[in-house]
Amino acid sequence: MDHFPWWTDAQKKLADDAKKYVDEVLIPIGERAAWKKQFPWEGIKLMAKRGWFGALVPAKYGGHFEEWGVTGATIILEEVARADSMVISLACSMYGGVHQILHDGTEEQRQRWLPKIASGEEMGSITMTEPYTGSDAAAIEATAVRDGDAYIINGKKRFQNGSSAASRYMTYFRTSNKPEDKAKYRHLTASSSRKAPWIHG
Ligand SMILES: Cc1cc2nc3c(=O)[nH]c(=O)nc-3n(C[C@H](O)[C@H](O)[C@H](O)COP(=O)(O)OP(=O)(O)OC[C@H]3O[C@@H](n4cnc5c(N)ncnc54)[C@H](O)[C@@H]3O)c2cc1C
Repeated sequence: MDHFPWWTDAQKKLADDAKKYVDEVLIPIGERAAWKKQFPWEGIKLMAKRGWFGALVPAKYGGHFEEWGVTGATIILEEVARADSMVISLACSMYGGVHQILHDGTEEQRQRWLPKIASGEEMGSITMTEPYTGSDAAAIEATAVRDGDAYIINGKKRFQNGSSAASRYMTYFRTSNKPEDKAKYRHLTASSSRKAPWIHG
């Protein structure tokens, strides 16, 4: 990958390392997995060891955000995209929840989730699309209704990349039908959870 002049030295080094690693290690793994119709766990584990799942996670939670930033995350994804389907799980894990937990989560939630996301121990999936709701995400029909300390959830989701392999789901629910909430797009809530009830396997 050509370097852009505004990249930092760390990002240039990351780009060179990622290109070499993808060429030499991940492409053969991706090809083998595709021919055997297997999930590329071997590649996922190797990417996790290199810290790539933590590209967007700050260093205090075990990631590399200050060093690589969003540009670094994109460099990694562009390189890994050449190695077949493992890029999907990497991208969904990076983007599915890190921002929400960092900006809207409590400190307890950040400490609980982010180090495991950064290490690749908790692989994520983005659970938004439904049978009757695609581009218009504000029309999500799945509901989460508060019941004491818990939420009762009902609904269907589809097209969730890597969801059978993931262990963490950033899922979007409707939590209000009030017109004033809908007007401000406050009628939806995203929830990070372990196993999603509609996933089997
Ligand atoms: C391979 C794959 C992987 C996916 N992975 C995930 C995932 O991991 N998580 C997840 O939540 N979802 C995932 N999706 C779902 C994807 O995000 C949706 O398919 C997408 O949001 C479009 O929704 P839809 O297919 O229902 O189409 P619709 O929203 O029904 O759109 C149908 C058509 O209408 C057009 N259209 C829609 N709205 C407008 C508008 N306002 N103005 C003009 N044209 C419009 C669209 O461009 C499209 O051509 C995945 C989909 C695919 C195919």
